[in-house]
Formats: sequence, structure tokens, C-alpha cells
Amino acid sequence: MQFDYDDQNIFAKILRGEIPNSTVFENDHALAFKDIVPQAPVHVLVIPKGPYVSIDDFAANATPAEQAGFFAAVAAVCDMSGVEEGFRTIANTRAHGVQDVPHFHMHILGGKPLGRMLPA
Ligand code: AMP
Repeated sequence: MQFDYDDQNIFAKILRGEIPNSTVFENDHALAFKDIVPQAPVHVLVIPKGPYVSIDDFAANATPAEQAGFFAAVAAVCDMSGVEEGFRTIANTRAHGVQDVPHFHMHILGGKPLGRMLPA
């Protein structure tokens, strides 16, 4: 599958420092910051620094170092966010997944019981 990355998306602008963000963790390959419209007491987005549109683009095309760095950031965010009782990760993808920002991001949501994954 062909993945075309739009470098004008809002997370690309965050990575270039063109707009501010509330960073909670950063390493060489990933940035984690608070969602601007939190859906739970903990709502953090983890994004790779590389130009990947979606989770399937990232899984297929990111280097092992980029993938390791991304998941190290996920681990760090979970460790620092007080979500020992559980959390949910979401990677909305393209139209059916209702992905608004075309730069791969993993939502980490927690801090309270979250209910069923999808409405019945
Ligand atoms: P998605 O529908 O999975 O693409 O979700 C995109 C998420 O990005 C939403 O939860 C937005 O609230 C969040 N978002 C959009 N702009 C910003 C921003 N400037 N800083 C932090 N989060 C943002």
C-alpha cells in the first residue's frame, strides 16, 4: 500500500516547533503530549518523529530503532501517568477509523473506568 504523508498536518507542525504542545515525554524517535481535548483524566498522544501517516504505515515502514523508540515512549507514558489500574490505547486509522490527523498517533486513555470498547 502507498502512504502519502502531508507535512502540513498539525502534528508535523508540533514536531517542527511551529505550534505549542504540552509534552510529557520525548526521546530520539517519539514525542508524547497531552491531547488538547481530553476524553479521560489521562489522555496522552504518542507520535513518532518520522513521517508516518498511520499505524499500518508505521508498522510496515518504520525502522526497528524508530519502532523501539516509539514503544519506549508508550512505556514511559504509561509508567508516569498513574494508570496502574488499566488504560486503553487507540490508533484511529483513515476514514472508517475516523482519523482526523494524518500523522500516526496512539491515544493513551485512562484514569477512570472507560466502559466497553465500542457502543453496543
Ligand atoms: P484522531 O481522531 O485519532 O486523529 O485524533 C486526533 C486527536 O488530536 C484528537 O483527540 C484531538 O483532540 C487531538 N489534537 C488536535 N490538535 C491538537 C493539538 N494541537 N494538541 C494536542 N492534541 C491535539
